[in-house]
Amino acid sequence: PYEVLVIGQGPAGAAASIYTARKGFRTGLVGERFGGQVLDTMAIENFISVPHTEGPKFAAALEQHVGEYEIDVIKNQGATALVPATTEGGLHTVTFGEDAALKARSVIIATGAKWRLMGVPGEEEYRNKGVTFCPHCDGPLFKGKRIAVIGGGNSGVEAAIDLAGIVDHVTVIEFMDEMRADGVLQDKLRSMSNVDVILGAQTTEVVGDGTQVTSLKYKVRATGELKELPLSGIFVQIGLLPTTDWLRDSGVELAARGEIAVNGRGETNVPGVFAAGDCSTIPYKQIVVAQGSGASAALSAFDYLIRTKQA
Ligand code: FAD
Repeated sequence: PYEVLVIGQGPAGAAASIYTARKGFRTGLVGERFGGQVLDTMAIENFISVPHTEGPKFAAALEQHVGEYEIDVIKNQGATALVPATTEGGLHTVTFGEDAALKARSVIIATGAKWRLMGVPGEEEYRNKGVTFCPHCDGPLFKGKRIAVIGGGNSGVEAAIDLAGIVDHVTVIEFMDEMRADGVLQDKLRSMSNVDVILGAQTTEVVGDGTQVTSLKYKVRATGELKELPLSGIFVQIGLLPTTDWLRDSGVELAARGEIAVNGRGETNVPGVFAAGDCSTIPYKQIVVAQGSGASAALSAFDYLIRTKQA
């Protein structure tokens, strides 16, 4: 059995595994896709100390760094269930598919998240060519341009306020007849001169010229009328879905929206089981944050292992 088994090979999992390997623990790192969400982006300009890199390059660097340590890397495997130890200091079991399983004294869950998509034609084709999900990451790419933010919840309205300070003009598009964001955020948004809000609108198509987004089509839900908005960027903010459905029957506590509930040390409600990054309640979903929380979870696993007798 492993002393530490890390599930998920994104930034959080890679950081966690390096930290526990550096403590001399026998560490396994299992995942579906080495690199995680960073594989879906090009420019990364907010990983501090690296002014500019690209997603695939960043993922390769993560893998290379992990490779410098004695970490047992198992790729292309999706965990399907976690069965926590029944006694303190006992072994936790993580299963893969029907009959494969790995055992470990401690488990760090770093299975990340996925952005909820609009599901309209053109969205996939123009991903990273105008369609984006991360205002903190891609806002500066649209300086001086017209953009739309899809979604009038807290994340959409926060994104619109953030982007209004960078881009030329922002249109917020909300499906319902009112925005769900907190009142103070809505007030702040409406006080900005370069923002419009369109309520009761359903996006129907992302239109582009083959290389870049040029407009967004939407339907006015009340009348069925179709309209088109010329723009360069579309920030989709209709939810981030944590990859935690596989933990449903594990006894690991999930918070609202399915994130794994952790404290500031990355501890879950189950002794010896930790979580980090976008799958957890750690606020702000960013690479540096995911890596920092992966390091915290790993150090907490270290504390747990040195204080717990193996059952
Ligand atoms: P993830 O990166 O989601 O990695 C989780 C990994 O776990 C994945 O490989 C997944 O396949 C795997 N996994 C899932 N379920 C299982 C399972 N059951 N068993 C095994 N493995 C599993 N952040 C920035 O700081 N700067 C940026 O410029 C930036 N740009 C972004 C652009 C895009 C398009 C996107 C989508 C995100 C961007 N982000 C950016 C956010 C950043 O990528 C995430 O915050 C970060 O990757 C989270 O790391 P993580 O390790 O928690 O999760």
